[in-house]
Amino acid sequence: MRFSTRSIRVGQRPDREHGAVINPIYQSATFAWENLDTMPKHDYTRVTNPNRSTLEEVLAELENARYCVAFGSGMAGIVAAFSLLEAGDHVLIASDIYGGTYRLAQKLLPKQGIAVDTFDAADPSSLAEATRGNTKLAIFESPTNPTLKVFDIQALAATCQKLGILSVVDNTFASPYLQNPIELGVDVVVHSTTKYISGHSDIIGGAVVTNHEWIYEALREYIKTVGSVPSPFDCWLCVRGAKTLALRMERHCSNALAVAEYLAAHPRIAHVYYPGLPNDPAHQIAKKQMRAFGGMVSLEVAGTAEQTKRFAEALRVFQLAESLGGVESIVGYPPLMSHGCLSPEERASMGVTDTQIRLSVGIEDVEDLIEDLEMALETAFADQGAAVS
Ligand code: PLP
Repeated sequence: MRFSTRSIRVGQRPDREHGAVINPIYQSATFAWENLDTMPKHDYTRVTNPNRSTLEEVLAELENARYCVAFGSGMAGIVAAFSLLEAGDHVLIASDIYGGTYRLAQKLLPKQGIAVDTFDAADPSSLAEATRGNTKLAIFESPTNPTLKVFDIQALAATCQKLGILSVVDNTFASPYLQNPIELGVDVVVHSTTKYISGHSDIIGGAVVTNHEWIYEALREYIKTVGSVPSPFDCWLCVRGAKTLALRMERHCSNALAVAEYLAAHPRIAHVYYPGLPNDPAHQIAKKQMRAFGGMVSLEVAGTAEQTKRFAEALRVFQLAESLGGVESIVGYPPLMSHGCLSPEERASMGVTDTQIRLSVGIEDVEDLIEDLEMALETAFADQGAAVS
């Protein structure tokens, strides 16, 4: 079965009692034992739940992997991946990574006796240089947030393997429809299912996917112990969302390309970050490892920070909000939103500027999106007269 068919059919067995085609929501904390000789398939929802199991089956399938454990948020999934580490270990995080992952690595891991260093994922040799005798894991993402750099996942995974360290990729921005890092040699994939996989900005969820049985067993033990589980209803919504992932991603990608081309030609825009533009530094590697170029577009306004903020606030179809990957278009201002928890120096090292805007391009009619951008740019520069191309 191919991607769309799998996303619709996997895990969908008609319910035995009523024949319901859509899985019921098992909103139950606990499950009855028939007797004390046989443990029921599901016993207690912190350990497993039918809706979580279905979601895990679907996500493993979509990543072409063997195992998945679903969590209550993307961050809970990333914390779970870090739970594979022990005090005394050393971890490497890509210098260009989601602000929440950076904060977790810088603030919490050292308290657990885990040392943290950064590496430049654009250069696999920097991994080897940063690796020490106690290095156990390296984590990176591609495309990155917000500057949409694309790294050679296969080369980074091969370097990690040679160095004997676990490779972890945050595949949230691409989604399993656009790339499958495990097929490129990566050990562990993490997702914020809050974004493209559920796709409707109505749940918070996460997932960790792997082909390694020992990691799967460790994560099952971890979630049972810690209890960072998604609710049955959130799992059900996520399974429903995943059924349309392919369709949505096709539209996200075509709308994002049209928006990026429009912005690249606009005199009020100094730079557009989008791997789908042929002159973008990420274009060649993105073409090699991704099915299409994604729904995220970032830009630099050719103006001041104030004009940039005014532009973001003036948009009407794009909503000013945190997050990404939903059907609705969202505009974010990275210095105050996704990267607001970082110091100005840390932001600068990640290429986050005060004139930067991040767009999560939704699946609306693209003409409405472009008209909205045009109107907001005119509003932001209303006091400046016509732009000079
Ligand atoms: N990874 C990436 C790339 C993200 O953008 C986010 C959230 O924005 C997360 C992880 C964390 O996910 P969640 O908000 O579901 O905890």
